[in-house]
Amino acid sequence: MYGIESVTPTVCSLFKVPSPKGVSSKPVAEVLKAADGQLGGIPLERLLIYAPDAVGEWLYKAYRDEFRQVLDAAPIQVEMRAASPSWTPVCYGSMFTGLPPEGHGIRKYEKPVLRCPTLFDALAEAGKRVALVAVKGCSVDLIFRERPISYYTEEYDPDVELRALKLMEDGDTDVILAYNQEYDDVMHRTTPTSPEAVAAFRRHLATFRRLSEAFGRDWAAYRRAIAFLPDHGTHVDPATGRGGHGTDSPEDMEVRHFWGVYGP
Ligand SMILES: [Zn+2]
Repeated sequence: MYGIESVTPTVCSLFKVPSPKGVSSKPVAEVLKAADGQLGGIPLERLLIYAPDAVGEWLYKAYRDEFRQVLDAAPIQVEMRAASPSWTPVCYGSMFTGLPPEGHGIRKYEKPVLRCPTLFDALAEAGKRVALVAVKGCSVDLIFRERPISYYTEEYDPDVELRALKLMEDGDTDVILAYNQEYDDVMHRTTPTSPEAVAAFRRHLATFRRLSEAFGRDWAAYRRAIAFLPDHGTHVDPATGRGGHGTDSPEDMEVRHFWGVYGP
């Protein structure tokens, strides 16, 4: 099984730019194979990443039918292993540096600005215009700062979606990372399968569907890829009776990533 740090070399391979220095994780072969078929060895031009917090593999298995709206645009499925400990800054730190936690330095729930090269540095160096769209104060909003990319700090998930839609429509951005967190927020307050949490999870699926429709429409002329990339799963913490994560249990560690690659 791939570790989530394999996302960085995968994206670098799609764009045919060098991975950040020190990255030894392997790109995801299934994605590169699809790219070979769709793009015939020519580099990708546009990428949309949707990053929904805490959507684990077990949630996929429990609501498999509802993932149809993800699979419609992103049919390549890859089972992935979260970084350990399974906290959001540790996991997205690994995903977008290509490094294990001991390599990027975030090893607990903390949000320092990363000092090592990231995927976003590699893309910016190659002249790609990158936009990072996230909720104010969250891990994704903070740990990738101080790069030559555009940062959009939004009030909450719906604002993130609107911003990503606007950026695709405007057409001046090559790579968009849109992060959403409502499912994680709600399941921490309740449980991972409470009606409120499931409603939030469904809003993530619906957001991805709307983003994927714009992706297919506004970026139709480009060699493009779309990805649905959660960071970790969840479990019920026996001490509190509420949702949590951070352990090495399969519920926390197993996630499923979805990709789609398209020619013009
Ligand atoms: Zn959380």
